[in-house]
This record gives sequence, C-alpha cells and structure tokens, in this order.
Amino acid sequence: MTAATHSSSFPAAPDSADSADAVLLGLDPEQREVATTLRGPVCVLAGAGTGKTRAITHRIAYGVRSGQLMPASVLAVTFTNRAAGEMRGRLRTLGAGGVQARTFHSAALRQLQYFWPKAVGGDVPRLLERKIQLVAEAGARCRVRLDRNELRDVTGEIEWAKVTQTVPADYPVAALKTGREAPRDMAEIAQIYGTYEQLKRDRGMIDFEDVLLLTVGILQDRHDIAEQIRSQYQHFVVDEYQDVSPLQQRLLDLWLGERDSLCVVGDASQTIYSFTGATPDHLLNFRTRYPQATVVKLVRDYRSTPQVVHLANGLLNQAKGRAAEHRLELVSQRETGPDPVYAEYPDEPAEAEGVAGRIRDLIAAGVPAGEIAVLYRINAQSEVYEQALADAGVPYQLRGAERFFERQEVQKALLALRGASRSGGNDPLLEDVVELGSQVRAVLSSTGWTAEPPAGSGAVRDQWESLAALVRLAEDFARSRPGVTLADLTIELEERKAAQHAPTVQGVTLASLHAAKGLEWDAVFLVGLTDGMMPITYAKTDEQVEEERRLLYVGVTRARLHLTLSWALSRAPGGRASRRPSRFLNGLRPGSVAPGSPPAAGRAARGRGRRGPVLCRVCGKTLTEAGELKLMRCEDCPSDMDEGLYERLRDWRAVQSKEQGMPAYCVFTDKTLMAIAEAAPAEGGELSMISGVGARKLERYGADVLAICAGQEPAGADADDA
Ligand code: ATP
Ligand code: MG
Repeated sequence: MTAATHSSSFPAAPDSADSADAVLLGLDPEQREVATTLRGPVCVLAGAGTGKTRAITHRIAYGVRSGQLMPASVLAVTFTNRAAGEMRGRLRTLGAGGVQARTFHSAALRQLQYFWPKAVGGDVPRLLERKIQLVAEAGARCRVRLDRNELRDVTGEIEWAKVTQTVPADYPVAALKTGREAPRDMAEIAQIYGTYEQLKRDRGMIDFEDVLLLTVGILQDRHDIAEQIRSQYQHFVVDEYQDVSPLQQRLLDLWLGERDSLCVVGDASQTIYSFTGATPDHLLNFRTRYPQATVVKLVRDYRSTPQVVHLANGLLNQAKGRAAEHRLELVSQRETGPDPVYAEYPDEPAEAEGVAGRIRDLIAAGVPAGEIAVLYRINAQSEVYEQALADAGVPYQLRGAERFFERQEVQKALLALRGASRSGGNDPLLEDVVELGSQVRAVLSSTGWTAEPPAGSGAVRDQWESLAALVRLAEDFARSRPGVTLADLTIELEERKAAQHAPTVQGVTLASLHAAKGLEWDAVFLVGLTDGMMPITYAKTDEQVEEERRLLYVGVTRARLHLTLSWALSRAPGGRASRRPSRFLNGLRPGSVAPGSPPAAGRAARGRGRRGPVLCRVCGKTLTEAGELKLMRCEDCPSDMDEGLYERLRDWRAVQSKEQGMPAYCVFTDKTLMAIAEAAPAEGGELSMISGVGARKLERYGADVLAICAGQEPAGADADDA
C-alpha cells in the first residue's frame, strides 16, 4: 500500500531546490491554480485520484517556500491521524516542515489543553478513552438493561447526537427525522444520553466529542481566546471535506472568524460517512457561502488506468441524488492497462481461494504484496480471506479491525464451543442434534446469539455477523467432512487461529471499504460483491443505497492498475446458487443489463454487443441468471455443445492451471468453457463475445483456445503475459 501523498513524481531539482516554483513542476495547470491561489477561499471539487491531496500539499509547500505563508500560521486538517502523519512527512520533503497537519480532533485537543487553565481554570479534565462503561452506568441508573451490543449501539447514537449538536431532549425528534434505526426506544436513549452527560460532568471527565464541543464553546464565549488562536492560525486547508460533520464545520467557522483564507478539497461522490452525521452540503454549498471563492475542478485521474476509470465513471453515471448531480467525468492520464476482471465463483471459499491464487500470481509476477489490497463491505467478511491467504502462504495485514479470531465475541464463542465439546457427551440436547451447524447454533444461542440478524447496522450487527461467519464456518466444515464432532470443530478452529496468527510482515492489506478511503494500491480486489452485501441488506432508503454505491466507487478508484471484482453465487460449497452479483454492476460487467434499458426484442444474442439484454440463443427469452448469461442460453434449453471439444478444452485448462499454479476456474470457469464449446468460435472477435473472455484472457489464451476449437493442437502452453 502506498499513501497517496507519497507517490509523488516531484522532481529532485538540485539547482532550484530552494525555489518555490520547483514545487509547481509536478502539477498540472489546474492543480497549479490551486497551489498558487493562496488568498481567499478556494474550493476544489474533484473526483478520486485527481491529485486533490497532492495539490493541497504542494499548495502549502509553495506558499511556505515563496514566503507567502508562515509555516506556523497554517493548519492543515485531514481525516485520520495516519493521513495527517503522511501529510507532515510529505510537507517536510517539500521543504515545508513546521506546518501543522492534524485531524479536527487532535487540533482541538491541543487548543483545549492549552487554554483550559485560562478559560475554565484548574486541571484539564481527563479524557474518557471509552464511553461504554459510563453509558452502561447511565443505563443502570435509568433502569434500562442493555446487553453488550445494545450498549455499543446506544453509544453510537450518543456520538451521533453529539456531532450533530443534538441535546438529549431533542434526540428522539432528530433521530426520527433522519430515519435512524435506534437500537432501543428513542425516549430511553435520550434519557440514558442525559444521564451519561451528567455522570461525566460529575466525575470531571470529557469524551471525544466534548473535545470539539468544548473547544467550540470556549471559542464562542471567549473572544480573547478566539483572537489568540486566530492570530496564530491564519490559513486553513481541509482534505476530504465531503465528510465534514456539522460540529467540525462549526469549529472551522470559529477558527476562521471573519476571515476567508480557507482551501477545501473533496469529492461529493466519495461521501461515505453520512451515517455518522457527515454531509457533503458544506462542500457543495461552498460557492453560495463564499461567492468570491475560486472553484477549481480537476478531472485528470493520475492514479488509475483508463480501464479502471471507465468503470468508475460508469458507476457514477448510474448514481442519483445530490452528490451525483455534481459528478465529474474522470479522464485517465495513465497508459492502458488490463481490463477489470469480473470473477464469479460458485461459493465463498472458492471466491477466497480464487482471489488468493490470483494474488499469488501477481506477487510472482513482481507486484509487491504491500501493493495489493482485498477490500470488503463489512469486517466479518475478512475471515475467509485471512484463511485463504494463510493457506496460500501470502502474508497479510488487517486495517482498521481486529483479526477475526482476536475479536472479543469470537473468542467468547470459541470458549463456549470448547466448553460444550467437553461436556457435549452428557448433554441430551447435543446428543439429539446430529448436525454440527445446529450444535454450534445451540451453543452460540446460549451466549445470546440469535439466528435472525438484529435490526440496524451498528456494533450489534457487526458482532452478529462475526458469529454468523463462525456458524457458516462450522457448517462448511461439517459438509466437507461428514460425521465430524464438536470436538473436531474446536480443533479445526484452533488450527485456523494458529495459522492466521503467523507473524505479519509487509503484506497484502485486508480492509473494509470505509478504511480504504484516500489510499491507493497497484492491485485491488473488491470481493463479496453480491446484492445484499453491496448494497448491504440494511441499506433501505434511496439515500442509503446511494451511499453504498459511493462506497463501491471509493473501492474501484483505489486501484492503480489491476482491479478484480468478484462474488459468489452461493455461500457454501454445494449450496443453492441463489445470489446475484451487485446491482451496481448491471450494465457495467460484461453480459449484464443496464438498469432501465429497454429489451432488445428479437435481436439474436450471438454476435451481440457487450451491452444490452442477453437473449437465450435457443428460445430467445431474456436471460438474467449469471450462469445462464455465461452460457447464453437458459439452463434447460437444449445444448448444442460439442462434448468432445468441451473435454479437450477442459484437459487444456487442467494443464494451464497446473503450470500457472492457479485454480482451474481462474483460467476459465466451466460455464465459460461450455459456452466456448457450444459456440466453437472460429476467430478472436467471436471468442471475445463470450462472457468470461475479457481482453486479458483473449490475449493470453485466445490462440490456444481457437486452435483447439479448430481441432488443432494448441501452439504452446507457455502463456506468459503477467
Ligand atoms: P482521493 O479522492 O482518492 O483522495 P486524490 O484526488 O486526493 O484522491 P491524490 O491521492 O492526491 O488524489 O493523487 C492520486 C495519485 O496521483 C497519487 O499517486 C499522486 O501522486 C498522483 N498524482 C496526482 N497529481 C499528479 C500529477 N500532476 N502528476 C503525476 N502524478 C500525480
Ligand atoms: Mg485524497
């Protein structure tokens, strides 16, 4: 993984090292405008990978080096501590060390600590590291029993209320209005929230949000202090401005006072934190607020190949809502690269194995493991990838989440399972229940787990998902080895745990899409892209679904070169293939139908273009199932497949897969081979029409496959394009 701000092509120019203009050399004309417009409000509205972060870093460096900005007078605000650290490093390299780059929170905390004695007197209150304990106490005082998960979600609601500056009494109305799914009765939450605040005050403590709230309070009430801060910081730069919360915006306004030396950059299409109260309105309304603002749009995408950018643009073309109205068509500045790969797998383990295999290929072909990422929607999806990578001997690291077996709920479940396996023989319930999956469910329900997912999308849901993943693991294990016992399962789980605990070196990144914001990798795998996961089932309103689409856009645009999008038709091996690929990919992946496109009645499917509905080439019916799309006919319509050709193709595939050390379906899936055997294409154009034969595969395998179809021996098994 490379931090976006690090991969600069800023030239080392020894002769002009001291000159400010040297900083501008690595920028395009629009970025240069951003960098040189040092006065007045500046707003950069631009898509992913267009160099927003780079432009503001260079802007600060240019201002400092040209003597127009005093380093100590600049405050750069970024989204995470990591991003802030990277920006400081980058600024140092560019000769602008000494500029403060912080998150809103860390900047406010520093100011609060400094001014507390003067503003309030006495010692600065202690920072409450974790709210949960105090929320539990507040719950108890209100006589509301909350289990551990509800506690987390009530805490989430309190945090939301605080960043949206909603006081306890107003919480129910505000929560209703914004359609929040509260984990408990809203009046109860309001009461717990109020009590929590009181307890905190009584103990002289402040929480994370108080840091911002109190700083805002002091700046509002104490003009002398506000002036002192304003005399230090005169210029403000904010990255990822589309995800600013109302509270952060308030703080920014107070820092600025009447002045307007503010530069904000953002991409409304990457708004992915609305659920925490963030809103792109501040970014989109910037011009209204500051009519004199310089607004710069960047459209050149320096990060990704035209192939990746084409998909990103396609995704946004289908987006709706306010953010989407402001989208900009990205134009890739890079040379062409491989087409995005769409990979459909029969089940999740096969998907993980396929991804791990392809990662191994990439590493073998020279892509560093640290330049590869697997991104998923929810953290519970990590386990199967942790395992597949461990099995494939590929080092990995998790971002923004604990490893699966280190999660508290999973550890607790393992403990319960071990206990049950020891006493299992005596337990009539367990004797009755023959199926391992049911046994595991029974044990987990004794720890409070329910078969049905809880409502809402908070911590309760995350933990439920982790345990559901554990149940699935048990079921898959039982299926693969009939007759296994609970004791066998606990041994298996221990082994997995040990394998995944292998010490990590610089490895493949496993991260949720949310945690991938602002970052970039050479190769990105977006996995688990089924309807239900992307968009996630609990995204119900149009706005929630649009936020999911933006999340996928963020994922796609993390890739510089290789992008693979995959999904599995069923969860477990042998399961019913009931899942469908993400609706967001309709009209974008080969063989799929764009939403709202009219049926092209009567058009033969064979020889069709890549877009538009696919019709069964036997009966003419519109096809929607992924498997049928591949075959280009209904599953039960008569096949005119040349069985002998199919067998020869399979034999050839087996050799390929062995030679390249990757699973057979990574060469071609069965469905694709069947479709080839049915079509028996005579030339490349015909072959490329078959779903599953992308440009890369055509180049790599086309000659072989066409030779086999023509009844000849393939020229050579050596296909080395990697
Ligand atoms: P995101 O929306 O994902 O945060 P961004 O707009 O902030 O993206 P950057 O991370 O600044 O984009 O830049 C993306 C990549 O393109 C980085 O590797 C950066 O170094 C490179 N880049 C940006 N501008 C240029 C340029 N003018 N010349 C060469 N490379 C550039
Ligand atoms: Mg950025």
